[in-house]
Amino acid sequence: MIRSLKNLSYEEMQQWAVDEGFAPYTGRQLFEWLFRHFLEDPAEMHNIKKEIRSRIAGYGPLRLLELLRHKNSGGSGTEKFLFQCLDGNALESVLIRSGKRVTLCVSSQIGCAMNCSFCRTADMGFIRNLSAAEIIEQFIQVKKASNEKISNVVFMGMGEPFNNFEQSIRAAIVLNHEKGPQIAARHITLSTSGIVPKIREFAHLPYQFKLAISLNASTNRVRDKLMPVNHRYPLEQLLDAAKYYSDTTRRRITFEYVLIRDVNDSEQDAAELKRLLRHIPCKLNVIPFNETGASFQRPDEKDIERFIGDLENAVFPVTLRLSGGRGINAACGQLYHEVLKT
Ligand code: SAH
Repeated sequence: MIRSLKNLSYEEMQQWAVDEGFAPYTGRQLFEWLFRHFLEDPAEMHNIKKEIRSRIAGYGPLRLLELLRHKNSGGSGTEKFLFQCLDGNALESVLIRSGKRVTLCVSSQIGCAMNCSFCRTADMGFIRNLSAAEIIEQFIQVKKASNEKISNVVFMGMGEPFNNFEQSIRAAIVLNHEKGPQIAARHITLSTSGIVPKIREFAHLPYQFKLAISLNASTNRVRDKLMPVNHRYPLEQLLDAAKYYSDTTRRRITFEYVLIRDVNDSEQDAAELKRLLRHIPCKLNVIPFNETGASFQRPDEKDIERFIGDLENAVFPVTLRLSGGRGINAACGQLYHEVLKT
């Protein structure tokens, strides 16, 4: 992992200052310069003494991502950003505008080890975890490039955040920090393919971050095929952990359900979902599959409507996400490839 002061928490930055022989408030000032004002050049940190600035400069890089490409989706309000890390790897973030809400979708890993059969990220294999600093840097660089007031952050880009738990949570804590970007904890969502022990651990964090679970199937048979993680943590265990999370935190879970033609879009699937989720405070977000050239297809509009109709009397709310990223292939899971191709 590349050493950078941007990997340090508020408390650790104060400790760093003390260890360097300076006052703790120097660490607090540094945190604000980095995460509130987004400075990258210690020379601009005018309230920090020159000798300290040179220590900051000597510690490691403060700019961790270079914007390689930036793509607009012509009207839908969605923008895709391709970045290069200092080690040459590329990663992507997506900015999604919807009404007053401006959501940034960040990557937590380069590639992914989950190997979901419908997801393009799986084709890359797993390359490496991102550091907390690289996750936060996506926010900082998108903010600088777009000048938007980002209200929400979702960990739904490349990677499985619960396989990079510590760095993902570290990044979320800084994004939420009152001396940093101040994204409300309830506006930060971590999305998992279903790493059961980490869902339980997440339930006990003293932060109100939200949880999303990519469900994507109503039976073990289909989920096994779509998401190999289901062999390890089958639906019963996953839903137990989800119930545990909502009982412990009193927060509602979002289940994501990528709707794939003739795979998980039957009336029977809708009935089974209503049964499976009836005791869990949740909402169900149905995402019609974004075709990637793979063997799966998006259902017709009438089948999407029929599926939503079948869920009408569910005890939980159901939303349909008509992906803003469709036009630019910015659906999570199909980042990266497209940009490199074009
Ligand atoms: N690994 C985490 C975080 C990635 S989120 C997780 O699985 O939750 C990526 C989301 O995009 C997941 O809900 C996934 O099911 C969905 N997704 C992946 N490929 C897609 C595609 N082609 N069309 C629509 N949604 C897709």
